[in-house]
Amino acid sequence: MAGVYRPAVITNRLSPPKRGPHPDRPHVTGGGLPHTPMRPMWCCRADGQPWPCGEARLLLRVEYDGNLAGLSIYLAGLMYEAMRDLYHLNPHDAPDPAALFTRFLAWSRHTNFEPR
Ligand SMILES: [Zn+2]
Repeated sequence: MAGVYRPAVITNRLSPPKRGPHPDRPHVTGGGLPHTPMRPMWCCRADGQPWPCGEARLLLRVEYDGNLAGLSIYLAGLMYEAMRDLYHLNPHDAPDPAALFTRFLAWSRHTNFEPR
């Protein structure tokens, strides 16, 4: 029947999660270092602030102008990667999930994104 979604394969097993997105955004602008995260500490490569730093947030908003879904998916993938790195680095003093959510995702909702 046309218009009815039918999954190609029905299974009750999930494949193991793959790695998240490569942290290559925001892209380089000007001649300086990019405001991208240095792993595994997740500090900004350019200014040493916890990533995403203020400049990275501004640049990401510009880069994802009108694409809140794309920005959220990118940030959620990187939050997942950061959780993995930071807990591996220091399992007893890693940031809690709520703090990571605020740092990686919550700020992106406060925008004037308009659907295109
Ligand atoms: Zn920065």
